[in-house]
Amino acid sequence: PEGSAGLAGAIVRETLLAGGQACRPLIARDGLSAVLIEPAVKFLQERGHTVQLGHELRSFTTGDGKASALNFGGEDVIQIGEGDVVVMAVPPRAAASLLPGLKTPTEFRAIVNAHFRFEPPPGSAPILGVIGGVVEWLFAFPNRLSVTISNGDRLVDMPREELAQAIWNDVCEAGGVSGELPPWQIVRERRATFAATPAQNALRPGPATALKNLFLAGDWTATGLPATIEGSVRSGDRAADLVLAAKRP
Ligand SMILES: Cc1cc2nc3c(=O)[nH]c(=O)nc-3n(C[C@H](O)[C@H](O)[C@H](O)COP(=O)(O)OP(=O)(O)OC[C@H]3O[C@@H](n4cnc5c(N)ncnc54)[C@H](O)[C@@H]3O)c2cc1C
Repeated sequence: PEGSAGLAGAIVRETLLAGGQACRPLIARDGLSAVLIEPAVKFLQERGHTVQLGHELRSFTTGDGKASALNFGGEDVIQIGEGDVVVMAVPPRAAASLLPGLKTPTEFRAIVNAHFRFEPPPGSAPILGVIGGVVEWLFAFPNRLSVTISNGDRLVDMPREELAQAIWNDVCEAGGVSGELPPWQIVRERRATFAATPAQNALRPGPATALKNLFLAGDWTATGLPATIEGSVRSGDRAADLVLAAKRP
């Protein structure tokens, strides 16, 4: 009831109403690393670029309306060249502390995932949407049933065992399976998404910042979509377009 109809409407327009291929949900069968991350890293490495992990940006040095250096702590400083442009794609809380004065969403919602070691019965739907239960989405994989529950703040403080049993009861009912609670794992991400309410949506900034050579990307920027992979990809595309435009003589 509190969700932004504008954001929900964008999803419905681009999927169900568009029909055909647009409303075929896709599952990363072997995980997102194989589908998105590894190919992207390979693409960059083949072109001589490096990806450095565990390298936290602590602050910018600025001057003349531009970012002039990236400070990673202590002596670890990268100077930003005259023609260089930075795209910052960190989550909203990190962005707000790196760029004081930046408007960002301030409220977040949890996502709860549960995984059960259980062989789905033959003919199980690969994705099942559940209405009116604890479970929202049920995914059938070889030897595993997985559950996703968005806006799961009401579940984050529930004892894990109790939560696993409650979800398993729903899985049995919705998925047509039965049996004692199998081996399970629960993952609760408290700040999984910004709250997709009209008020929080209004706090999402565009890609341009007060610094001429610094652009923003991320699912929480003003993409017109809720916090999704698709939104973050589009924000990256848009930032890249602006970078190219900024570099044009
Ligand atoms: C449990 C869960 C389930 C989800 N399920 C789905 C789904 O089914 N479909 C879907 O479309 N979306 C889903 N989402 C949302 C999706 O994961 C996000 O929309 C997407 O990952 C956002 O990408 P991003 O690049 O904008 O930000 P992020 O993926 O958050 O990347 C930001 C990166 O910045 C890094 N960082 C932070 N601070 C700094 C710093 N100071 N210096 C350097 N790096 C920094 C972080 O470590 C992180 O790697 C899910 C999210 C969660 C948590």
